[in-house]
Amino acid sequence: MSNTVAVIGAGPAGLVAAEVLSAAGKRVVVYERMPSVGRKFLMAGRGGLNLTHSEPLDQFVKRYGAATERMRPLLGAFTPADLIAWANGLGQETFIGSSGRVFPKAMKASPLLRAWLTRLAAQGVEIRTRLRWLGWDESGALKFQHDDGHTESLTPAATILALGGASWPRLGSDGGWAEILRARDVSLTPFQPANVGCNVVWSDHFRERFAGEPLKNIAIRFGDTSVRGEAIVTTYGLEGGALYALSASLREHAGPARIHIDLRPTHTHADLTAKLLHTRSGESLSNTLRKSIGLTPVAINLLREANGGALANDPTQLAAFIKAAPITLTAPRGLARAISTAGGVAWESVTPDLELKAAPGVYAAGEMLDWEAPTGGYLLQGCFATGVCAARAVLWRASGLEALVPR
Ligand SMILES: Cc1cc2nc3c(=O)[nH]c(=O)nc-3n(C[C@H](O)[C@H](O)[C@H](O)COP(=O)(O)OP(=O)(O)OC[C@H]3O[C@@H](n4cnc5c(N)ncnc54)[C@H](O)[C@@H]3O)c2cc1C
Repeated sequence: MSNTVAVIGAGPAGLVAAEVLSAAGKRVVVYERMPSVGRKFLMAGRGGLNLTHSEPLDQFVKRYGAATERMRPLLGAFTPADLIAWANGLGQETFIGSSGRVFPKAMKASPLLRAWLTRLAAQGVEIRTRLRWLGWDESGALKFQHDDGHTESLTPAATILALGGASWPRLGSDGGWAEILRARDVSLTPFQPANVGCNVVWSDHFRERFAGEPLKNIAIRFGDTSVRGEAIVTTYGLEGGALYALSASLREHAGPARIHIDLRPTHTHADLTAKLLHTRSGESLSNTLRKSIGLTPVAINLLREANGGALANDPTQLAAFIKAAPITLTAPRGLARAISTAGGVAWESVTPDLELKAAPGVYAAGEMLDWEAPTGGYLLQGCFATGVCAARAVLWRASGLEALVPR
């Protein structure tokens, strides 16, 4: 057996695990099937890399829904403050945006990833790309396949799997590992899209004129849940944080789903009605909506979409539409276009410190575990925290101690 720790998957969860292990003097080899590392991390930086969130930890952990109790000690061991300190240590200062989200000042992921890879190289981490993990061979060794088809094996001292979810498969994480783990009796929760946009049948005019326009400071209600945030009109429907936060309930709803968009959540229906009743003579309704109510052109035209093409004339009725414009989502977009994946390695399959019960010495970290969270920095924080904890568990066990997080 080699004294190497194998980390498989070079996304944030795998790279941070490699960092923790190598900092403690372990020899680490990271295996990655793609030609380069951190592709989804780089993609995450395209629209502004939302690293974590500044809300209090008690509130923060609740964002992980059904996985909250399993994630709590892991997030407690590597907190948002730790992640911010880590980014600062790589020369990437952060700032807190208006919504409490934390971003690097550079906004992009590339400077952070560059500095990170330099640190990993200095700590002796070997990164081997274009090697796809195929599972274990008959002797129990890890088996990898090169692009040209030939294979090689390794029996490491410990293994950390950080293979990602199954969304955006072209970036590397294709969920192909699920079959390998299922064959090893690891129980898995089916993959489902999380933080995903939805299709809407817009009129040609609305689609052509407003695709790409944001609907800011809105609230979206579905059933009993209402979420403040923003959405973006797209050619096929809607994307954006407020909608993503409803992913889990929308997923469970069979068939088209009716949402209601509150375009002025800070105003009451009575306020809006009063403003609409005081339309200046000669002013068009669109102008009143823009000037007195503060609606953008995309919001005004969304009201038309919601009402069969025309604005309601009656002020009370129009105010009701502003507070709850009904829009029908025909279907969520598929897993391949989702920001993240729900489902994966079931919690009952892993110990509290993330060792696979069916495969001692093998740990799982990152998005491949069965947790989901809204956008807002919770995804990366979850990946970093689980990566750090899996690595610490390997170190802890190697030093002969029982378990880091009590089992
Ligand atoms: C468009 C977009 C924007 C996002 N923005 C944000 C954001 O702003 N904030 C946020 O918190 N999160 C964001 N996310 C989510 C975040 O990027 C992911 O949650 C995170 O990258 C998951 O990290 P991971 O290390 O678990 O997996 P990944 O980053 O998916 O890495 C897994 C790695 O494993 C490799 N791999 C898979 N199978 C094998 C195999 N068999 N053999 C070898 N290697 C393999 C893959 O190629 C991949 O490199 C965004 C995601 C997307 C798609």
